[in-house]
Amino acid sequence: MKNLSERDKKHLWHPLTQHKTAAAPLGMVKAKGAVFWDEEGKEYIDGIASWYTSMYGHGNPYIIDKMTAQMKQLDFVLFSGFTHEPAVQLSERLVPLLPNNQAKIFFNDNGSTAVEAGIKMALQYHHNHCDKRDTLIAFEDGFHGDTFGAMSASGLSSYNGPFEDFLLKVERIPVPQADNLDVVVSQLQHIVDTYDCAAFIYEPLAQGAAGMKFHSATGLDALLAICKKAGVLCIADEIMTGFGKTGKNFASANMDQQPDIMCLSKALTAGMFPLSITSCSQEVYDRFLSDEVSKGFFHAHTFSAHPVGCAAVLAGLDLLESPEIMERRKYIKEAHERFVAEVKDHPKVENARCMGIILAIDLNIEMERYGNLRDKLYQFFMEKGVVLRPLGNTVYVLPPFVITNEQLNKVYNAIKSALVVF
Ligand SMILES: *Cc1c(COP(=O)(O)O)cnc(C)c1O
Repeated sequence: MKNLSERDKKHLWHPLTQHKTAAAPLGMVKAKGAVFWDEEGKEYIDGIASWYTSMYGHGNPYIIDKMTAQMKQLDFVLFSGFTHEPAVQLSERLVPLLPNNQAKIFFNDNGSTAVEAGIKMALQYHHNHCDKRDTLIAFEDGFHGDTFGAMSASGLSSYNGPFEDFLLKVERIPVPQADNLDVVVSQLQHIVDTYDCAAFIYEPLAQGAAGMKFHSATGLDALLAICKKAGVLCIADEIMTGFGKTGKNFASANMDQQPDIMCLSKALTAGMFPLSITSCSQEVYDRFLSDEVSKGFFHAHTFSAHPVGCAAVLAGLDLLESPEIMERRKYIKEAHERFVAEVKDHPKVENARCMGIILAIDLNIEMERYGNLRDKLYQFFMEKGVVLRPLGNTVYVLPPFVITNEQLNKVYNAIKSALVVF
């Protein structure tokens, strides 16, 4: 039998990959806790929780048991015209954890479709009131997914190039920092006064794909207040930040202004199942109530509210605020803070920062000298048995909550050796 990476070549097409030049993908055969094993038996620590999903560890027996029991009880039923216990229980348990204006849960099956539904909800919210609003507001360098609406809102143009002529109308503002708030506020005010704005979509406090860039909660709060005043719906994309990444359960809890719509996925199901949620306020929901059928939200995905996915969410919620996980959340946050203090003045570190369990280090290393730094760093960490996916010059760590102290040290040490070697 040929190995996985060999057999993979024949028929498979990978995401975010230029197959002419990319290295063969690594065949993975097993995962447990914060560790993967490849087909040669080599161990890797999952330093980014497999794109911020597997927060309670791979192969978590508690979650698997709950999912298995659900699969045996009721594997799947369509969610149009039917409901079921895991979806109802999920809504009863999740809504109280969200900002307190959130009232309704709409199900989708991945992050992009959660955003897509959020954007469509916002557009139809205005349409149902015969209010013609055709423009979205988004942050520069935001990332919201790869379907058309989500891609339109995303400001990372390297992905969007071929599709630019087909995107929705979007006006962009920089993220608010301590030193630019006045400028951003007046820019937003100008946009709101000039265009027919339907919604403002944002990753609250931390922009993942942009390179774990952080911004100011006070600043964001000021921007949300302007939108609220102008009747522009605020859509918080918490697909990356949700479920304890930034310290609180949701980043939106750091602002006084609450989002009208929220998008959740990734850690929602603890990495065990593709599922997502678009939640909204009662006010948004009520706009869709009418004797006219067409004012309802005619949007659906086949796997909406998949019972097995809902069971994974419920099991994850059991763990999120358990004493064991709360202890890990605190430990990782403090360990990150110590690591930032240790490396922030290193000559090869441009900026080191952390928020909750997210750690990011911008490297100050000359690109010319080392060619494609990002790929070299990636390979370097893989050789050390640590999975990290640097974004340009930024190395970030977003470990599963269950990473052990020793494993976390191994991740930090890999970064420290990179500072020596590069
Ligand atoms: C990952 C991500 C998405 C897209 O989710 P997919 O499941 O990959 O479609 C959208 N927004 C943010 C902030 C994300 O991190």
